[in-house]
This record gives sequence, C-alpha cells and structure tokens, in this order.
Amino acid sequence: MFEESFVMAFLEVKDLHASIEGKEILTGLSLNVNKGEVHALMGPNGSGKSTFANVLLGHPKYTITSGDIFVKEQSILDLSTDERSKKGIFLGFQYPIEISGVGYSHFLRNAYNTLSKSLGQDQQNRDVFITVREFHEYVKRNLDYVGLDPSFLGRYLNEGFSGGEKKRSEVMQMLVLKPNIAILDEPDSGLDIDAVKAVADAINKLLATDAGVVVITHYARILRYLTKLDHVHVMARGRIIKSGGKELSEELESKGYGWLGIEDK
Ligand code: ADP
Ligand code: MG
Repeated sequence: MFEESFVMAFLEVKDLHASIEGKEILTGLSLNVNKGEVHALMGPNGSGKSTFANVLLGHPKYTITSGDIFVKEQSILDLSTDERSKKGIFLGFQYPIEISGVGYSHFLRNAYNTLSKSLGQDQQNRDVFITVREFHEYVKRNLDYVGLDPSFLGRYLNEGFSGGEKKRSEVMQMLVLKPNIAILDEPDSGLDIDAVKAVADAINKLLATDAGVVVITHYARILRYLTKLDHVHVMARGRIIKSGGKELSEELESKGYGWLGIEDK
C-alpha cells in the first residue's frame, strides 16, 4: 500500500558510517527491519557484517562518525549496550565467548526478567515464571528444542561448550529471551547438517512470536530451512550493494560474488 512507505520500521539503520582505530569499516549502511520480517545479510569476508552487528549493540571499540540507528523512531546511539538490549535487540555472536563463574540458568533468569520488566506492555505473550523451578522447566523445553542436554543448565555460560554447542546455545538463549529483533552472526558456521537444521528450527520458532530476524550467513542452506525469507542483502566494503529475495541467496551460492564486481577475500 502507498501509505506504508511512511511507516517507520521497528529498527532503522540510516546511512551508518563507523570506524575502528581511524579506519572506516561501515561506509553508509542502511537497513530497515520490522517485526515479523526475516532478512539475510550476506557478503564476502571482511565486508563489515560483524562490525555492523557489534555497532548495533554499541560495542565501545567502534566510533560512529555519521548516520543513525533508530528503534521505534528513537535514536539508540546514546544508549549503552544493556539499554539497547532492553529494547528487545538480541545479538547472537559469531564467536560466542565463555564466561566462567556465570551460571547459565541464573544468567538467563535474570536476563529474562529484566527484559520482561523493560518491555512491559510492549510485548504481549511473555510468560511470568514465579518460581525458579518453573523457569527451569521453560529453559529445559528450549534446551530440548535445540538438542542440548538439560545438564547444561548447571554449567557456566558457554564454558567448555563445543563449537556446535555454543551455536545451539546462542539460539537457545534467543528463544528463551524472546527479543523483538534478533541479529544472528553466522549462526550456521562450523555446524554439521543436523545442527544447522536445529538452529533454523529455533529461528522458525522465534518467528512464530512475530520477532524480526537478521541472519548473517555465507550459505543458502540455512535460509532454505526457514519458514520465511523476506529480503536478502549483499554487503561489500561496509554497505549494502544489492538486495533481493530468496533467489539472490541461491544465485550467490552457485555463482559466488565475482559477478557483482566484488570478490571473496
Ligand atoms: P565480516 O564479518 O563481514 O567478515 P568484519 O566486520 O569482521 O567483517 O570486518 C570488517 C573489516 O574490519 C575487516 O577488514 C577487518 O579487518 C576490519 N577490522 C575489524 N576489527 C579491526 C580492528 N580492531 N582494527 C582494524 N581493522 C579491523
Ligand atoms: Mg563476521
């Protein structure tokens, strides 16, 4: 519809320029993500995909030199990382870090409750868990969903997890927390086929809560498992140079990046 073009997206990234140690990495990135939408962000190594994810959540290493990021029409540039996540923005890391001493279950319960409080009436369908036991049952269902053993609840966050377990763990956390928008940085890298399917299923489950998702990936495979895929974007040298639908991801899978005038490094 004509009027729809005037409605702002839940997340709006506008002509973003960001640098690190004086080197410009993001060179005018624009992207709108609404709830319920699935975007794939592809592009050669070093094109700035992870930088974008980090900048979105306010990583202190990067300096934004121009442009803006809006959540529900409000700039989030002055907000700290935790304030940004309290708006319901979730980042699944390309390289999840191990945090010894932070209990998995305790961490999730605190994060869930904090997010529920800050989203308030903004997000319906958030369950209230009165007891620790109730919350554990909820997490266990989600662990089971991504194929992780309930014993993970008793461990420290990501400590000693295998590469595949870390990736499953990232999307499990996402499912438990129920963000409005999830940015997943290569959730499928290094995974065997069953694990890719489990991660895709978790994304599909989140989609059923009307969340928006940005999947950063090199491969069409994970995208084929998703129940929907609205937009595919190709990033090169710090900005989106081409957008299309699912067919674009298939084209990239078969042809690589050369035909776009960019090369994988
Ligand atoms: P992608 O995720 O698309 O592979 P990244 O966002 O990780 O790309 O990296 C984008 C570019 O930023 C790369 O050229 C990388 O070398 C550069 N970069 C990342 N961190 C630093 C840093 N600390 N100092 C200088 N350059 C960096
Ligand atoms: Mg990356």
